[in-house]
Amino acid sequence: MSVTMDTLVSLCKRRGFIFQSSEIYGGTGSCWDYGPLGVELKQNIKRLWWRDYIQRRPDMVGLDASILMHPTVWKASGHVDNFTDPMVDCLECRRRFRADKVDETPWVHYCAATKGNKFTIPAGEPCSHCGERRTLCPECGKGSLTPPRQFNLMFKTFMGPVEEDASLTYLRPETAQGIFVNFDNVAQSMRRKLPFGIGQIGKAFRNEITPGNFIFRTREFEQMEIEYFVNPRDTVEGKPADEYWHERWIADSLAWFQRYGLREENLRLREHEKDELAHYAKRTADIEYRFPIGWSELMGIANRTDFDLKQHAQFSGKALSYFDEERKEHVVPYVIEPSAGVDRALLAFLADAYQEEEVRGEKRVVLRFHPELAPVKVAILPLLKKRDDVVRTAHAIRDTLAKHWTVVYDDTAAIGRLYRRQDEVGTPYCVTVDVQTVGDTDKGESADGKVTIRDRDSMEQVRVPIDALPTVFLDLLSGGSWSAVASRFR
Ligand SMILES: [Zn+2]
Ligand SMILES: [Zn+2]
Repeated sequence: MSVTMDTLVSLCKRRGFIFQSSEIYGGTGSCWDYGPLGVELKQNIKRLWWRDYIQRRPDMVGLDASILMHPTVWKASGHVDNFTDPMVDCLECRRRFRADKVDETPWVHYCAATKGNKFTIPAGEPCSHCGERRTLCPECGKGSLTPPRQFNLMFKTFMGPVEEDASLTYLRPETAQGIFVNFDNVAQSMRRKLPFGIGQIGKAFRNEITPGNFIFRTREFEQMEIEYFVNPRDTVEGKPADEYWHERWIADSLAWFQRYGLREENLRLREHEKDELAHYAKRTADIEYRFPIGWSELMGIANRTDFDLKQHAQFSGKALSYFDEERKEHVVPYVIEPSAGVDRALLAFLADAYQEEEVRGEKRVVLRFHPELAPVKVAILPLLKKRDDVVRTAHAIRDTLAKHWTVVYDDTAAIGRLYRRQDEVGTPYCVTVDVQTVGDTDKGESADGKVTIRDRDSMEQVRVPIDALPTVFLDLLSGGSWSAVASRFR
């Protein structure tokens, strides 16, 4: 059984992952705030992506371009002219709708056949009394709609103190253009040879008319984008270099999501049809994920050819090309663009990790996050919070482990309750400190210096000397299996 969006939204709020933006003021449309656990999860996704794609690869470098750019960037990229949706306005209530979606919502109808009674009629259906179809505004049922007009999805803003056309600019609708305009800076300063890639993580903004589905589509979002530049004259394994690298990036991207926990059966590849392709794209493939709202795009991997570099060369008057030493000629690189949304990736990891199971007649909710994604790696739980020595030892363990990982200390409930709480936020391991750990002088029992580690997924427990904890967690949190590690202490 797959999890519903409502269940995820409520878990995210209850457990400090994601809150509605400006909630005390009634919320802001489709904006969300990442809470204490959400920000850890999001940082982990970005950190792993950066580590795997930028730091570990010899052919990649990073960049952090500014959100506000020269306004001509967006003319060159085509966003000023083409990044639009057709909109219609109601002349009565002034509401605005996407022209292609207006028949996809239920509509309000004052029916002449029933003395003008008001009905709400399902999307796309005629009135069952008079047989009429919707022609007026679907919300108020009274106003007629204007002909469609193109509405640009970029957020406009003004640079400097004067609000005039000359100072008009935009919040970037994608991070990619910051990479294109820096192509020459990076290639020269880093002495790069093709093929090489530039990766960037950052915020982007789109004034979507119909955002929604929690963090799936929002007006402010974060992207993880790579522009991978190749020499279109080269061949690799008998294929043009751009086609070869496009294939490689599709395979790498699919493998990356699986490595951190997305199940294969929830992932699929969808090729863009010829009529769906952007005019400059040679081929685009989407990786789709089976979200709670159904199969939807998780990331896109496009072959954008030499379109962007050529456009910026034309608009800026600066050559954006590469000197091919072998052929002694200038060439404009082709670019492969693997582009993923951080928020969407987070939603997918969350949905895939969610599991409900029955344990001894009780429902257990557990987020089976990959340990490297889990917001909290280890929870330290004292079994008796009235005993000073137990609490002191637990805090000392917390302090030691916190040098390496995100750990928490919690003594605000009974142990069963504490375990459930950690399961529900996906903490892979709990450590409990009990009387045996510190000894009981009244009963003449000496301290054994050991604590219990509990594994989230199997719920198995094993007793481990306190001194061994750093090496044990280093092993467990960098890919070591629970059964192998636990067997050393049985
Ligand atoms: Zn209206
Ligand atoms: Zn009617």
